[in-house]
Amino acid sequence: MTKAENRHSLEGTDFLRSSFSLQISDLARYLGRLLPHLCVINFRNTEHGTRNTGCLRPPLWFALLLLGGCHSPQPTSSLKLQRFGFSSPHMGTMFQITLYAPDEAAAGSAARSAFARVAALDDIMSDYQADSELMRLCDAPPGRPVRVSADLFDVLEKAQRFSALSEGAFDVTVGPFVRLWRFARKKKVLPTPAEITAAAASVGYKKLRLARRQHTVTLLVPNMRLDLGGIAKGYAAEEALAVLKGRGLTHALVAASGDIAVGDPPPGQRGWRVAIAGIGALGRSSAGTVLLHNAGISTSGDTEQFVEIGGTRYSHIIDPVTGLGLTHQIQVTIIAPNATTTDALATGVSVMGPERGLALVDSFPRTAALVLTRSDGKDRVWTSRRFKSIALKE
Ligand code: ADP
Ligand code: MG
Repeated sequence: MTKAENRHSLEGTDFLRSSFSLQISDLARYLGRLLPHLCVINFRNTEHGTRNTGCLRPPLWFALLLLGGCHSPQPTSSLKLQRFGFSSPHMGTMFQITLYAPDEAAAGSAARSAFARVAALDDIMSDYQADSELMRLCDAPPGRPVRVSADLFDVLEKAQRFSALSEGAFDVTVGPFVRLWRFARKKKVLPTPAEITAAAASVGYKKLRLARRQHTVTLLVPNMRLDLGGIAKGYAAEEALAVLKGRGLTHALVAASGDIAVGDPPPGQRGWRVAIAGIGALGRSSAGTVLLHNAGISTSGDTEQFVEIGGTRYSHIIDPVTGLGLTHQIQVTIIAPNATTTDALATGVSVMGPERGLALVDSFPRTAALVLTRSDGKDRVWTSRRFKSIALKE
């Protein structure tokens, strides 16, 4: 896809046509950044941002971009539906909803409910709000079971499953390492080996115990700190989509930065077109476009979030084995039946690297991955077994 074509397809879409919470200045900034950077949409965070993963970080980059639908004959039953777009800042990023509804009132009311659900999840899962349920859980004395909400239990249970399957590459107990990484980024100094060893004593998914019947969570050792930054946005996007579906608005898409949940395709179309940004020689132009419905898609990478110390680049994704940010340059896009899976897998596969990571992806049903790596100035593209059949339609 050429630059011009790509830009053209962006200009052709009425994405964000209607927005009840996005300020005009934000919209202008959004469009201003969107067009020159092709597949990369940047938002400056607003004061509302309460990011799970990195507070108000510098311009967020989105590896995934909604381009619009792919046309086929439009059934008469769906002709009455109109397209609406809404944005609202949550979890330190801009959540965006695109949906088809019979009228603006139905669209606005459903979008408000969906954003309210995201806000409620942010209040539970944020590691920037000291009084979030997650942070209160982390303050509990080690060894004491704490009864938690259904939402927190659900996301932790899912996270633990991904930890086990990825052999600890994905691990929400990495909080103590993330803290060290944030400090390193601020001071531009690596944590000392002693600091890493001390933090490592409080990291490891097996130190987190869940009791399903009692709905309790036990942190088994002192100083544990849970970090849902690698899964919360996908989970929230999926939940927001479920709210829209509950209102009968099934032709919808919810995007949270690099994590997107899509429902039924735009009326009369085969799917939602999402472009994947490139890295390395591909620059930020598209590494491919996929056509999706009733699925999730997430991209993890270090294009914006990294720190460079002593000539080495450390990603905000931590390898739980070393306690340090990844030093291999990698961008992982996952497509799966839901956005919780894609968010967690994108983070986990980033840690695992292409060979081990793609084997894991292939073990999940209806799941595919596109991995871009850059080492010694060489760019490589890796795809999972089912990538072509699931994703690439053009
Ligand atoms: P982004 O938040 O940029 O979309 P990810 O979904 O990959 O990217 O999440 C990265 C975040 O996940 C980090 O900022 C951190 O909060 C958390 N994290 C870092 N390393 C891990 C890991 N190995 N497993 C689970 N979560 C991690
Ligand atoms: Mg993730």
